[in-house]
Amino acid sequence: MKKIYLDSAASTLIDDRVIDVMMQSMREDFGNPSATHSFGQEGKSRIEFARKIIANRLNVPANEIIFTSCGTESNNLIIRSCVENLNVKRIITSPLEHKCVLETVRDLKEKHPDIEIVFLPVKNQNGDLDLDALEEYLQENKPTLVSLMHANNEVGNLLELKPVAELCKKYNALFHSDTVQTLGHYPLDFSDIPIDFASCSAHKFHGPKGAGIAYIRKSTGLKGMITGGAQERNMRAGTENIYGIVGLGKSFELAMNELDERRKIIEELKRYTIDQLSLHIPEIKFNGNCTDFDKSIYTLVSVLLPFPNTMTGFQLDMRGIAVSQGSACASGAAKPSNTLLQLYTQEELDNTTTLRISFSHYNTKEEIDELVKVLLEIQQNAFNTIPVGND
Ligand code: PLP
Repeated sequence: MKKIYLDSAASTLIDDRVIDVMMQSMREDFGNPSATHSFGQEGKSRIEFARKIIANRLNVPANEIIFTSCGTESNNLIIRSCVENLNVKRIITSPLEHKCVLETVRDLKEKHPDIEIVFLPVKNQNGDLDLDALEEYLQENKPTLVSLMHANNEVGNLLELKPVAELCKKYNALFHSDTVQTLGHYPLDFSDIPIDFASCSAHKFHGPKGAGIAYIRKSTGLKGMITGGAQERNMRAGTENIYGIVGLGKSFELAMNELDERRKIIEELKRYTIDQLSLHIPEIKFNGNCTDFDKSIYTLVSVLLPFPNTMTGFQLDMRGIAVSQGSACASGAAKPSNTLLQLYTQEELDNTTTLRISFSHYNTKEEIDELVKVLLEIQQNAFNTIPVGND
């Protein structure tokens, strides 16, 4: 059975060119990068090379790029340190954030009951945030961190980063954006966007797991949370994951060099998927803004299928097709996700099936045809097995 991978928003296949540089680094860079001898220093220079590649692409000084283990760690570091080291007294965020932001915020509230947490209202069933409310909150003069994701990982809604960053700057609030789904897929220039903090994860753009960055604007004075060493400019103690960082640098460079070409392929696949699903399953609904190419990330489509969940993800998997059901990014569990519960009632979700189909440039239209064919069979079986009630 030929397997089909349509879950690249959860994680991506590692590019062979990335594996090659990582293998070379694993063989050669065994010295500790903090050591003063050449074995250590050669590894150290590879780390600094990766940092420069990323900094140049984001148009920021290299010392504003801090290597971490993943997007979750970066978001934790930034949000926790804002409260614990920068005296932030209020966090304005949204109910649509990734769990690693929501749970961090909840945890901080438990530990520091004096901080205020504000969840921006969701305006409509598409999941648009009420940004007028953001301005109203910001008018109250209070040390504030605004944390809003650039692209939602479940339905793909995009936030307009620059106007929101400018609004935060106008009111002297710190601005963090979880850019895990967009860095490596969009050419972001942080010299043009007054953002203070962002996060990135290599495994979302054909790099290795276990390697991410926290973008931290120097002028914020943010401090690290892990102590015990001077690595990463005192921001993250611990011997560096050289091979992961080398792989992150290479995968980011490739993603940026090949961005237009990859985007063209993926956008065409997304359009094709929307057209084919609409044609063959006319009652289908598309979640959030995912059919609007200006308002959603081009790498994913989120759908509500018109039949109750009959372990659809599992059935697709049995046929060799990997997609994400519910909030699979976090656990693989087919539970209604936090985001979907903001857009639909529990009853609406109980009578339907949600799938997130996410693409990479390795996918093909033939794979989408196979997905649609298998979904039609599953739909047919679902209707055949729905119990008929008594009159
Ligand atoms: N934020 C978003 C929007 C994500 O999609 C993910 C992915 O799972 C994360 C954060 C967590 O990233 P990581 O898997 O690198 O910890």
